[in-house]
Formats: sequence, structure tokens, C-alpha cells
Amino acid sequence: MHAPRNTAIEPFAIEHASVATGDEDGRTLTDTTIVVDGLGKIREIGPSSEVVVPPGYHKLDGTGKFVSPGMINGHTHTFSQGKPLDPKGSTPEGQRKTAKIMHSAPGKLFMYETSKSNIMTLLNSGVTTIRTVGDVGYEVVAIRDRINSGKMVGPRIMASGPMLAIPDGHGAPLVAMESDTPEEARSEAEYSIDHGVNALKIAATGGVTDSQVLGEAGAPQMTEEQMRAICEAAHANDIIVAAHAQSEEGVRRALKAGVDTIEHGCALDDELTELFLNNPNTLRGWSALEPTLSAGLPMKYLSQETLNMTDIQMENSVPVVEGMVKGAQQAHEAGIKVGVGTDTAMPFVPQYGTWREMALLVRFAGFTPAEAFHAGTQVTAEILGLGDVTGSLEVGKSADLLVLNENPVDNLRTLEKPLLVVAAGHPIFHPEVDRFDDMEAQLDEAYK
Ligand SMILES: [Zn+2]
Repeated sequence: MHAPRNTAIEPFAIEHASVATGDEDGRTLTDTTIVVDGLGKIREIGPSSEVVVPPGYHKLDGTGKFVSPGMINGHTHTFSQGKPLDPKGSTPEGQRKTAKIMHSAPGKLFMYETSKSNIMTLLNSGVTTIRTVGDVGYEVVAIRDRINSGKMVGPRIMASGPMLAIPDGHGAPLVAMESDTPEEARSEAEYSIDHGVNALKIAATGGVTDSQVLGEAGAPQMTEEQMRAICEAAHANDIIVAAHAQSEEGVRRALKAGVDTIEHGCALDDELTELFLNNPNTLRGWSALEPTLSAGLPMKYLSQETLNMTDIQMENSVPVVEGMVKGAQQAHEAGIKVGVGTDTAMPFVPQYGTWREMALLVRFAGFTPAEAFHAGTQVTAEILGLGDVTGSLEVGKSADLLVLNENPVDNLRTLEKPLLVVAAGHPIFHPEVDRFDDMEAQLDEAYK
């Protein structure tokens, strides 16, 4: 038996730093001191001339540095690193083979270790809260529980377990359970809730990366009644529901069923816009959009050989990516809550690239840098139901923060290499991640 790692928090203060608040208008505080208590919460934040650091607290000098809230990524998968996929592996047959291996005892251990490593990459890249939206099994639930019980340091996690899909639907069978009727859909949702998930994910439509026929991506798959049954089971347990939805009809059904967050999205008509803003069947009365431009845009800007995708997948991606970008622009204009989620583990979506989604919202969807950073901190916290806990630096909130070289509002890229990451009061000094240099160069070139 290994003794649990000591995860006790030593209280500390960061003095004389500038603070990038993550507010919508990009408000920045000068010469500020932030005090973090032994429970990992922010005890005090204010002008350095006024804040008194209690005796015994460690003191870090933040002169010339910027402190910001930690990033939040609302759409992650932790089963792989984000390199191009093997197209053979994404056919139903290929998925079935892999699923069989992954559901064996050694497969489960492998998936636990893989997920743990990818979750650490997210953390070391400055992401202090994640939601997974499609796991192989309940490996992320187990990792979340280890973090919450103090046995390891990691980000705050909302874990979905496997997605809920129709037979041979998007993500099935590798990362989705399959159901045919509302009754089956409800009982699968309840099965996952019994296994400890604190998020749920529906495949409302087909997707690109596992599509086998033209038109499959975005084609409606789950009925409104099935999705309604899942939403009812989730909401009864205070759990929000995400839906992969890549067409107007798919998004419409999902919203009407009461889905809380639409993943990827589509161009919005007036009815859809109104449903996002005022959606009585959801947990909070509204729905949010997570466009995941990081997953869509490589398919528009990189070559088929680079992506290692089939002709059908490439063709299917065209309307999906167009709708995704348009939907993000429209949602921003209409005041719909737009969250940051990257769809990590998809081709060219590495676990460390959350900062890039904010840059893409600026480049392609009409956000100011301040609005994009606000989305990746405060807004996504609110979307995930964590607005009282994290997303901004306020007394009583969790000490989830970054120390940066520059103000992210002036240069979002500074988020790529935080100098220090603090997760619920646990400092990670010199956070390092393994970057795929070729991939980064290709993405930089594509979006310049
Ligand atoms: Zn996804």
C-alpha cells in the first residue's frame, strides 16, 4: 500500500501582484495581495497597503506578475491526448473491439492511468476545473473522488461517465451506452448517477469523427422523449445535462427536452435563440452554448492527410464547422451564455490547449479578449453551476488561480504557460506539460 500523498495546504499570500479579474470589461487591479487559507479558500484580497498577511503564512512576491482565476474547460475527454485518430478505430467495429479491451480489468486500469495523466496535463496547463462529457467508464469519477478526499492534487472535476446514445449512435459503443426508448434512456441515466457521476452527456445527433456515411454528422439521433427522460432523471439529482448537437433540428430537440448545455451547436434561428435564453425545462431556466471551436476549426484549416480523416468525415465536417462558428457569433450577439470547452482528445485538441479556445472566440466569433477570458473563467463556472465556488477571485471562493507573466486580456497566449497554478489552495510550482511541437506549429500557422 502506498501512503496517501500529503495534500495538506500550507496557507500563503501572493503580494504586490496585478490581478486580471476575469470580469467582462477586463477590469485589472494593481498592487494587490491575495491571502489563501489552510482550507484552500481565498481569505482576503485587496490593496497590498491594506491587507495584513497573518503570521506564519508563506509570502510570495508577485511584483510584475499577474494573478488570474484558473481556467475552466467545460468539454473534455480524458481517454487520449488529442493526436489524430485512427479512422479504422472509429468505425462501429473498431470501437467495439477497443471497447471490449477497455472494459476488461487491465483495460480499466489502463484507462484510469491514461485519464489521470491527461487530467494532470489539464491542471498543469492552468485549468483548475473540468467537466468531462464522455468517458469510457467511471474512471474519471474515481479520480474525482481521490482528489476530493485529499489523496491527490488535481482540478475540480465534474465527471459524466459514458455518454448516452442510441444504438450505434455517436460515441457508441466506446464512450457511450446505447438505449432505444425513453424508459431505457432514463434507467441508463440513473445507472450513471448511481455510479457517482455529477454530469451527464447525451449524443443528440451524429458526429464527425466517427461518421461512416455522408450526412451522418448532425443528423438527429435521439428523440426528444428520450432526452426528456434523461434530463428529468438528472435534474431530480441537481445534475446538468450536456448534449452533443450539430444541426438545427438536433439542437431544437435537445433544448426542448431540457438540455442545459449544447455542445458544438449550429446556426441559430429566432426560436433556438429564445429557447437558449429562456428554457423552462432546464435546471436553471436557461441553456448555454459551448461551441468547441478548437475541435471544429482544424477540420477547416488543416489538410486531410494531416488530420488522418476519411473523405466522408472531411465532407461531413464542412456544414458542422460552418454552423458551429455561426452559432458562436450569434450566441455572443444575442447574450446567450457561451462557455469555453475544447473537446480535448479529439484530433488536434491536446489536453493543454484550453487557452486557444479563447483566442479562437476572439478570432472567429466576435469576442473581445476580455470577453473571451470572462467566458473561460466566470461564465463557464456559472454554466457548470459553480459560480459560487470558483471562476473569480473573491473572499470565500476556492483558491483556483494562476500566476502569469502578462495580463491575459492583453495577450491570451500568456495563459499557455502559467508560472504557477493553484488548485483549491494547492500550489503547483513550475507546472510543465509535454507539448506536441509539430501540432502547435500547424495550429499557429492555420489561425494566424
Ligand atoms: Zn466531445
